[in-house]
Amino acid sequence: MPGREMSAARTVRRFLCLLLILFATVFGVAQNQSGSNLPPYKNPSLAVEQRVEDLLGRMTLEEKVAMLSGADWMQSVPNERLGIPSIKMADGPLGIRSWAGPSAETSAPTSRTKIATTAFPAGVAMAATWDTELVQEEGQAIGQEVKAVGRDMILGPTVNINRTPLWGRNFEGYGEDPYLTSRLGVAYIKGVQSEGVIPTVKHFAANNQEFERHRINAVIDERALHEIYFPAFQAAVEEAGVWSVMSAYNKLNGVYCAENPFLLKDVLEKQWDFKGFVVSDWGSTYSTVATVNAGMDLEMPGGEPMREWLKRAKTRESGNGSGWLVAEKVLAQISAGKISTATIDDNVGRMLRVMFISGQFDKPHHASGEMDTSEQRAVARKAATESIVLLKNDSDLLPLNPSRIHSLVVIGPNAAVARTGGGGSSLVTPKYSISPLKGIQDRGGEHVQVSYALGVSMEGEDPGKDTPQLREQLRSEAVGAAAKADGAIIVVGRYPKLESEGFDIKSLDLPAGQDELIAAVAKVNKNTVVVINAGGPVIMANWIAQVPAIVDMWYGGQEGGNAIADVLFGEANPSGKLPVSFVKAWRDSPAYGHYPGENLEVEYAEGIYVGYRYFDTKKVEPLFPFGYGLSYTKFDYSDLKISPGRTSSRKPVEVSLRVRNSGSRPGAEVVELYVHDGHASVDRPVQELKGFRRVELAAGEAKTVSFALDHAAMAFYSTTKKDWVTEPGRFDVLVGSSSRDIRVKGSFVLEP
Ligand code: BGC
Repeated sequence: MPGREMSAARTVRRFLCLLLILFATVFGVAQNQSGSNLPPYKNPSLAVEQRVEDLLGRMTLEEKVAMLSGADWMQSVPNERLGIPSIKMADGPLGIRSWAGPSAETSAPTSRTKIATTAFPAGVAMAATWDTELVQEEGQAIGQEVKAVGRDMILGPTVNINRTPLWGRNFEGYGEDPYLTSRLGVAYIKGVQSEGVIPTVKHFAANNQEFERHRINAVIDERALHEIYFPAFQAAVEEAGVWSVMSAYNKLNGVYCAENPFLLKDVLEKQWDFKGFVVSDWGSTYSTVATVNAGMDLEMPGGEPMREWLKRAKTRESGNGSGWLVAEKVLAQISAGKISTATIDDNVGRMLRVMFISGQFDKPHHASGEMDTSEQRAVARKAATESIVLLKNDSDLLPLNPSRIHSLVVIGPNAAVARTGGGGSSLVTPKYSISPLKGIQDRGGEHVQVSYALGVSMEGEDPGKDTPQLREQLRSEAVGAAAKADGAIIVVGRYPKLESEGFDIKSLDLPAGQDELIAAVAKVNKNTVVVINAGGPVIMANWIAQVPAIVDMWYGGQEGGNAIADVLFGEANPSGKLPVSFVKAWRDSPAYGHYPGENLEVEYAEGIYVGYRYFDTKKVEPLFPFGYGLSYTKFDYSDLKISPGRTSSRKPVEVSLRVRNSGSRPGAEVVELYVHDGHASVDRPVQELKGFRRVELAAGEAKTVSFALDHAAMAFYSTTKKDWVTEPGRFDVLVGSSSRDIRVKGSFVLEP
């Protein structure tokens, strides 16, 4: 039966064919699973968004929710099944915080031993350099060190504005001006991200005091937010494309920052188009639904360390909150319909996106251990030197003249100890640090005989050694030594127990006994130089008239002592400029009377009039103005050109001028450009910084310095239009050496 045979053969063939397809399918799947054919999210050549979508599609809801709260003190939750690494963090921003002592809790779980990393100058000192390239190099060096310790993320930069000189963390930030802060924040972030390390710009927003930082409600008007407190965050997002933002502890206008939809959804996501993730400050969450829905993506800390920490009375007393984004709480709210799975996808997707962009999946960081390299040290040294601000120099006492000064006494509680930074989570333990005394001894060499006298103990450091009799004795020893020396260098200031995260500075006066010491030494030695080693202004009223020279070295990091010696002896020409106005007295400060608030509320009643915006507009004389700093040489400004003189287009207005070093030493000048808008329909500060350039000039050399002023340089934030607005009319352009030393002026007209 040939017909039947044929059909049997067909059946066999079909069967064999099916078998083949089945085999091919099974073999293919097996191959996929064996890894030779990677799932899309593991494929580095695919677009990041495709990888995020693919990975989210493979995760269970439970796996996603598990990522919303930290694994422990300093890491996010990994996922072994899918190979999602954890984000390992390190504190910053002035270098990598060391893992020992009070910071043990922030340590990598693998290491409770101290690691020593490069201590860069404090943020305020970096700001005093006005050197964006240098800040970018610092960011890059920190990024390299983060990788070297096997971490992925640095908790910095701090870009909160110096609203009151009493904020305990002023030293971490970049001063009082939003434009300067923005430029430096962007530079730092770019440096860190260039190494594939995640920066987090913090603390969003308005963390401007430590007093009651966990409970205080900062009441700030919309214009002040957009013009003063937001710009550095906005620039971080829009210009640097920052990968992470840290929300602040405090409430803003009644709502905790970590659950604030205005901040996190409207401003950050919608207005600025932020694509990265938001991490909470450590212990700053107070709800599940509101926090997740506001777009606070990662709650820190988490896991067992968080639970243990929350049990402590002190944690609760200080007002910390945490443990709200743990899986069981979030899952319960999803089941109750209060949180959507789309929201979870968005929040987790943001973390995954950053992990893909930063290369965490493709190029994981393996601790190389190479830290504090000579290049990194060089950045720290250059920064410390450029940050130094010469405040007063009567009769050109500085640089010290080797033909007149053969002996020096170095005095003060900050002379023989290197006070590298303020206290709290930013404090770095370096491998070495140079005290001012050591720097001066090394620099003085054989030509200058250098002696030392403590003069006064640091307030609170060793109370047993600070009795009235001992204080008297120390002072008279110092005065005796100063009377015999050709010159006296007194290094005064604060230290981490008096200036720190966690509490505000109790007074702008120098710590106990330091004023008296300066006055007594200045009486017996006319070549007295006061060196300020602190994170911000100090009151000088009691001795400023008696002292011919004053230099501010801030907290200069590990190289501070070398840097100050270079400046004192003229190896380096000081070029730092104040990023913050120095008040004559606390009562002159714009925040005076509106700080630290009452009943857990602080009203920023001064609005946009912060720092020089206040002093200039309200005609209050500061001790030293914003942007101020002397040099050992002189700079002449000329040939201001503004083009076009009238414009209606959105094309930037070009400004140029000549700056000439007319002295006999090489030096660097920070050229500052301010804009005055006298015609706006709203009140505007007398002038606002809209450009700056740091120029190095050999003796006699001149350079053309140019700026491009776009509409942002002319605009104010309109609360009626809910946007930045420029109004036609005349704008004055003021260029000078400080906010109160304008050398050349011109104007242009913006036509309708
Ligand atoms: C600080 C943050 C810091 C975090 C982790 C908080 O107390 O406000 O700036 O990054 O702790 O140490």
